[in-house]
Amino acid sequence: MSGNNPFDNAMAQLKKAAAYLPQTKELKQKLEILKEPQRIINVTIPVKMDDGIVRIFQGYRVQHNDARGPYKGGIRFHPQVSMDEVKALAFWMAMKCAVADLPLGGGKGGVIVNPKELSAGELERLSRGYARAIADCIGPDKDVPAPDVNTTGQIMGWMVDELIKIRGVKNKRDKEKLSSTFTGKLIKDGGSEGREEATGLGGLFVLQTVLTKLGKKGKLTAAVQGFGNVGFNVAKFLDEVGFKVIAVSDSKGAIFVPGGINPKLTLECKRKNGYLAGCYCSGSVCDLTKGKQISNEALLELDVDVLVPAALESVITKENATRIKAKVILEMANGPTTPEADTILYKRGISVIPDILANSGGVTVSCFEWEQNLKGQHWTKDQVNKKLKEKMQKETNAVWETSKKLKTDLRTSAFVVATNRILKAMK
Ligand code: NAD
Repeated sequence: MSGNNPFDNAMAQLKKAAAYLPQTKELKQKLEILKEPQRIINVTIPVKMDDGIVRIFQGYRVQHNDARGPYKGGIRFHPQVSMDEVKALAFWMAMKCAVADLPLGGGKGGVIVNPKELSAGELERLSRGYARAIADCIGPDKDVPAPDVNTTGQIMGWMVDELIKIRGVKNKRDKEKLSSTFTGKLIKDGGSEGREEATGLGGLFVLQTVLTKLGKKGKLTAAVQGFGNVGFNVAKFLDEVGFKVIAVSDSKGAIFVPGGINPKLTLECKRKNGYLAGCYCSGSVCDLTKGKQISNEALLELDVDVLVPAALESVITKENATRIKAKVILEMANGPTTPEADTILYKRGISVIPDILANSGGVTVSCFEWEQNLKGQHWTKDQVNKKLKEKMQKETNAVWETSKKLKTDLRTSAFVVATNRILKAMK
């Protein structure tokens, strides 16, 4: 397998997991159904640009499977959005929601656009246009989108507003119910407390559960690739529970601070400078003598207990997998490890905590948001985090037990758990 086509990679993962399922005729037929998206929606979005010219954007919504509940998955605005990518992401969302045991299926959307080239007004018109284009196919009990790469709570707010207009909803409670069509909204628009940190916090709960199983304790070290929403929050939570986070990175490179970074100070410094280089913030000061700059590639190969890829896909490959020194890899990004690298890491005894489990905290709190809007409730951050912790621990235990029973890696067992749940729900 090439490792380049994300949908092929996703199908390879499913095939590997399927080998562990009972080989009955009925199950095989259901598996064939699970391999294909149930619906692919292609849309064109005309947007009046600031210069008065109408530009046509291409968008997609892939609804992979809804056996367990409404389709669920983000909307990505990116110049490299492709149908194969959106299809793979929709399939992984179905798996992620099932492994987290949420009453949701899998979907994903995307628009081919570089949002950085749009003005604020153009971005709003594009967002509203996309919502109009897919309006017939979404709804609280049909398909529930959310933010993904380059889309935000504000964008979800515009989309909700557009849907309310299209459906002509006037009543406050009906508006609130309809707003559950989109999650990841700003709190003022009905968003959930704790959503912003949920992916990172969920990752911490998953990691702690696995480390306990592995019998690893004491002052552990970690390196985190990426310092965006997920990377920063993971670094912050790891630091808070006593890890020494010795390296973090962004697209411009990595910093190595042997004494352990102070994530909050490092973020402040990065915001001020625009980049991480020189932000060697440890304890309560940032000091150039406390660290040095290294490459993103070097960060991945540091001698740490836990490596956290939290930026891009396919960064751990067959080329560098033999040089990884971490004992545990917590996949916070989607698809950071290629299938070839996975095999090498497993043989080397490195525990890879798969993305569909490790980063499922985000969709879990999205599910809480959907539930709160439908019930007309607003939970406190403590309530949200408590529910998140219970869920992450329970589902990590289920994946761990399956891996012991089947004598296989955590990714395959997560897929087995998820596939079993979906096939059971399929009529
Ligand atoms: P983000 O845009 O906030 O942050 C991405 C980070 O990656 C930035 O710090 C950026 O500088 C860095 N980066 C970009 N190119 C890089 C490179 N070549 N090398 C190293 N770092 C680079 O995005 P995010 O929301 O933090 O998402 C990160 C990953 O986590 C993505 O794979 C995303 O799909 C996944 N994820 C996010 C969520 C969520 O709730 N935000 C949920 C599940 C999965």
